[in-house]
Amino acid sequence: MRINIIKVLSLDLDDMRRLLICMAGLLAGLAAHAAEPLVVYSAQKEPSIRPLLDRYTAETGVEVQLLVDQGPVLVERLAAEGENTRADLLLTVDAGNLWLAAERGLLATVDSPTLVARVPANLRDAQGRWFAISRRVRGIVYATARVQPAALSTYAALAGPDWKGRLCLRTSKNVYNQSLIATRIARMGEADAEAMVRGWAANLAAAPLADDTLTAQAVAGGECDAGVVNMYYVARLKRADPALPIAMFWPDQDGAGVHQNIAGMGVARHAKNPDGARALLEWITDVPAQTELSRLNLEYPVNAQATTDPLLVGFGTFKADDVDLAETGRRQPEAVRLMDRAGWR
Ligand code: FE
Repeated sequence: MRINIIKVLSLDLDDMRRLLICMAGLLAGLAAHAAEPLVVYSAQKEPSIRPLLDRYTAETGVEVQLLVDQGPVLVERLAAEGENTRADLLLTVDAGNLWLAAERGLLATVDSPTLVARVPANLRDAQGRWFAISRRVRGIVYATARVQPAALSTYAALAGPDWKGRLCLRTSKNVYNQSLIATRIARMGEADAEAMVRGWAANLAAAPLADDTLTAQAVAGGECDAGVVNMYYVARLKRADPALPIAMFWPDQDGAGVHQNIAGMGVARHAKNPDGARALLEWITDVPAQTELSRLNLEYPVNAQATTDPLLVGFGTFKADDVDLAETGRRQPEAVRLMDRAGWR
């Protein structure tokens, strides 16, 4: 009897060992699958997004690889690579490029009630092909020593004669300006938008500048009195030097509102890991990541439950233009031709 029990036990132990080895193999396989790295084609530069992705990796064990380039270059690359692409996600800093990628069939439709609940309808594609992860507005930066806010009102007012030789603008080759003018065309009509751009070009204090930071610095340094920039560039400069004599003004508050754009993401149509891509999108639109993104990049969260960075809160509230962001893509060629005709280089 005793021998029989030992024999039964020993058989069970062997079985158990085999079972454990088998289970360990299964678990390792599952873990390897869960930790499959994600590849993001990113128009956002590494320092602006990497700290957040590192946090995702720390929380989930999923490594995120970045391939950084200009938005249009990444869209072309996705198209050229087709189903051989390594990209799981596309991240761009302008709605126009996401719209273009979606139009060219490069983004998958994501069916996620979570994303629909977290991202307002005007900040995502109606078909679920892209979603905003942060909001930015393009307003007027002015020199606090030389400009009273009461002297400012609309984008179009900067085209008036009292601004002759006082305006700084970034080059019209930049997508932020192309999107701004695309939405102005949608709001004002082509003729009025063109008249405005002609006035701006005539009022320039200096040749168009290479970026928004240089534009804000030119205003701070006295080269000009006002310019048109995304607010986070001014916020970054003010974070480094709170005494810098510039401030943001929100134009068109009695009209359509200040021009709004997004940083946003879509899942690549040929993503190898579409479930992992959707999970990252859902994580990045959740409250903790949204609050961290606002702190990190000085942009506005898309999730209304998240906390906006206090420095931005200090810039004041505004009415943002809720024009369909698809206009930034749809009307981009028209905007580029208009700026060229009107002499904005
Ligand atoms: Fe930017």
